[in-house]
Amino acid sequence: MTVGYARPQATQRWIAPVVLLTLLSGACGPGEGPYDLVIAGGRVIDPESGLDGVRDVGIRDGRIAAVAEGRLDGARTIDAEGLVVAPGFVDLHEHGQNEEAYALMVRDGVTSAFELEVGTEDVDAWYAERAGRQMVNHGVSIGHIQVRMDVMGDPSEGLLPSGIGGSGGATPDRLDEIERRIRDGLEQGAVAVGFGSAYTPGANMAEIERMFGVAAEFGASSHIHMRGGLAGLDSTLAAARRQRAPLHIVHINSSAGGAIDSFLAAVEAARDAGQDVTTETYPYGAGMTEIQSALFDDWETWPDARFADHQLVSTGERLTRSTFAEARRDGGTVIIHSRTEAMTQAAVASPLTMIASDGFIEDGRGHPRTSGSFSKVLGRYVREQGLLTLEEAVAKMTLRPARRLESRVPAMSNKGRIRVGADADITVFDAATVIDHSTYEDATLPAGGIPYVIVGGQVVVDGGVVTDARPGRAIRADGARDPRGR
Ligand SMILES: [Zn+2]
Repeated sequence: MTVGYARPQATQRWIAPVVLLTLLSGACGPGEGPYDLVIAGGRVIDPESGLDGVRDVGIRDGRIAAVAEGRLDGARTIDAEGLVVAPGFVDLHEHGQNEEAYALMVRDGVTSAFELEVGTEDVDAWYAERAGRQMVNHGVSIGHIQVRMDVMGDPSEGLLPSGIGGSGGATPDRLDEIERRIRDGLEQGAVAVGFGSAYTPGANMAEIERMFGVAAEFGASSHIHMRGGLAGLDSTLAAARRQRAPLHIVHINSSAGGAIDSFLAAVEAARDAGQDVTTETYPYGAGMTEIQSALFDDWETWPDARFADHQLVSTGERLTRSTFAEARRDGGTVIIHSRTEAMTQAAVASPLTMIASDGFIEDGRGHPRTSGSFSKVLGRYVREQGLLTLEEAVAKMTLRPARRLESRVPAMSNKGRIRVGADADITVFDAATVIDHSTYEDATLPAGGIPYVIVGGQVVVDGGVVTDARPGRAIRADGARDPRGR
């Protein structure tokens, strides 16, 4: 069912007759003429209200102004008959924060992209670099990893430490400096605090817990790529609990590996006990990271066979002991083929997980999750395998990630929803054809079956093609400490 969206069903009409007509028919809001844009006759899914039915959605001034059973008139009308009209997807874990990455993500249905795991060491500068003309809404955390790299003097110029910033222990003075800089970042409006204890083995749990406490003071969630398997999960949960810190475990699929069921059970038990903890997954069996990071510090002890599970991103080649050694010296990113399909399915199907891409792409090279995470869940896991319902999948991509950030960032309460007053961030997809196309060899192949994506009321994907519209806005907290904090 492809319902003719190869050519957008745009209807440009003469404004004056429409105003007259709609005033007479009462089809529009009070005395304001036609809507700027109407998405007509689609199956509207709103996870907050439970709405799942055919409606017209009227958009005015960047917001949803009407959700109606009858027909609405718009300056432009998109015919969505046979298509799903969902809130725009909110991706809490996206390292690719530039035009190249946004152009792929938006065709995967993403309308808001957050870099919350690694984050940045300079919040004001991060937003300033992206001021104006972005395709999608975007936001960042103040990142413990990045701040630590800076304070410790790490030699890496990448996202992750390659030396003392990861492996070194911090003196009391340096700990004070790390804390001061995390506070500064929160005061500058960082959306959250990012952590990667797996990448900073030199940071003991007392250091991590102290920074959880700072995040909690500001009502900010701590997004962590944790270390140490199940025991590491227990100590991370315990540290957050002691600090009453909202906690988000990033990519539980890759942190858990074969222990995914036990990981999910531990998160569920913590939630049942009243702890504010959430988690996410990306729907792929391979991970990706920088080859000079601490994750590979023991590479010299590996058996030969293990190197072939590693694929160099810049060339697509599988590695050997000697080519791994070369790449480790020169730097770059590597894809790690490490998990079974059953592990991915368990993470995607769990009601505990949100979908988040962990995407990154540079000069056309990256991981397919950058351009296919959301379409793969909708196409392969919902439609082909029936692993979860469409409504559940949409909730994992929209309402739940919006809610994760909402207490610190009130603007998020107008995202992830299709209701009057919500921001007009909308993803229109064909449930019968939506699918990922990107591969481990070519991560730039855009998803299919997502003909229209609207950001702030403007059409950024039109008939599957990225337009010139750049309505993306900075999403930022107000920086104040949370009066409900500790
Ligand atoms: Zn990541």
